[in-house]
Amino acid sequence: MTTTRFAPSPTGYIHIGNLRTALFNYLIARKAGGTFILRIDDTDPERSKEEYVDAIKRDLEWLGLTWDRLERQSERLDRYAEAADRLRGMGRFYEAFETPTELDLKRKKQLNMGKPPVYDRAALALTEDEKAKLREERGPGVWRFKLDQERIEWEDGILGPISIDAASVSDPVLIRADGQVLYTLASVVDDTEMGVTHVVRGSDHVTNTATQIQMIRALDGSVPNFAHHSLLTGPQGESLSKRLGTLALRDLREQGVEPEALLSLMARLGSSQPVELRLSLDEIAKGFDLDQFGSAPTKFDARDLMPLTARKLHGLSYDDVKDELAALGVPDDIAPDFWAVAKDNITTRSDLLPWWTLCRDGAEPLVAEEDRDFVAQAMALLPDGTLTRETWSNWTAAVKEATGRKGKGLFMPLRKALTGQERGPEMADLLPLLQTIPARDLTKRSD
Ligand code: GLU
Repeated sequence: MTTTRFAPSPTGYIHIGNLRTALFNYLIARKAGGTFILRIDDTDPERSKEEYVDAIKRDLEWLGLTWDRLERQSERLDRYAEAADRLRGMGRFYEAFETPTELDLKRKKQLNMGKPPVYDRAALALTEDEKAKLREERGPGVWRFKLDQERIEWEDGILGPISIDAASVSDPVLIRADGQVLYTLASVVDDTEMGVTHVVRGSDHVTNTATQIQMIRALDGSVPNFAHHSLLTGPQGESLSKRLGTLALRDLREQGVEPEALLSLMARLGSSQPVELRLSLDEIAKGFDLDQFGSAPTKFDARDLMPLTARKLHGLSYDDVKDELAALGVPDDIAPDFWAVAKDNITTRSDLLPWWTLCRDGAEPLVAEEDRDFVAQAMALLPDGTLTRETWSNWTAAVKEATGRKGKGLFMPLRKALTGQERGPEMADLLPLLQTIPARDLTKRSD
């Protein structure tokens, strides 16, 4: 059975970069009718925060990326300790005592000599007595996994065939000196025990994958299908890493981005298929294919989310927004007409309020000096009482006759006087919705 997982560390909010990871894993499980696990990688007690766990769940729920199973690494520490013991028993785990400064010095020397900065395994040569002495002097060491020095190969779901020489990679530290189990080991134990069949993650994890494949094999697990998606860049190809903080899902949500817009964009960006608005995850899953993604960095422009958001909103029916309009205070009897008029003139839901305020209170008239007399004349001709759909054409016909103006010179000053802006809904549709028309006063002023 296809099983995937999204494994965020609760040390921050989900942003556009890790959304991609979440979505791809979700879609693979969904398409195959499999299981999607939300795994909270919280082995770091200092940096992990409960508020981030809550925020991650909230973001995923907002997008509809619901999980079939929730796991927390902090509740599985005994499983990791057991795996560590097994690796020790096999001679694949060793304690090392170098300080960060010593390691840094070693790396610098290697680089100076034109060699790759790979850990030299000096700790493997330590005798038990030497280790005991170091432990006494420096406290417990870190635990490193001893890589088999062979080529590690896999068929990557996005990158194609990968081959990494294990000799070019340092033996990874899996347990810190303070006893904290690191993600590299925890993830292997979890993926193996939870039957994870597919892992999609960012291409910054490729080297991790190489070492994890050896660990999975050492622990008799079955190696999942790995795929590494490219990292996102800004629209000009610039690194997004510093800006990711401002591209958190909660910020995009606050800016009014609709979840379907975000999902539709992210499911296609960087693939050979065009971006199309899809209104359900089922539809998105149907058209999703990992093979369509390339390895080149993927350009992301947050502005692309707005046209998709607008398109989603334009397609909503009155029933879809009934409650929202009621909450804004739009009376039920005019709400359907208001929605019909407003929907094509909004990009996000927050644009509804200004249109409703315009209908309810009217707008400060915008009148150019040269149009003052014209507008005053026109306002005098505007009928009192209930305005209907016919009012606009009858009225402008009368104004045209009285003033001789036509076309844009006729319509634009009237729109600006009534709405205070140059653009907006069809005036014929909008006029009957205007509860207050401050421009009516302009007739008096010109007297
Ligand atoms: N917690 C890891 C991260 O956020 C998970 C990586 C993985 O998918 O294995 O980078």
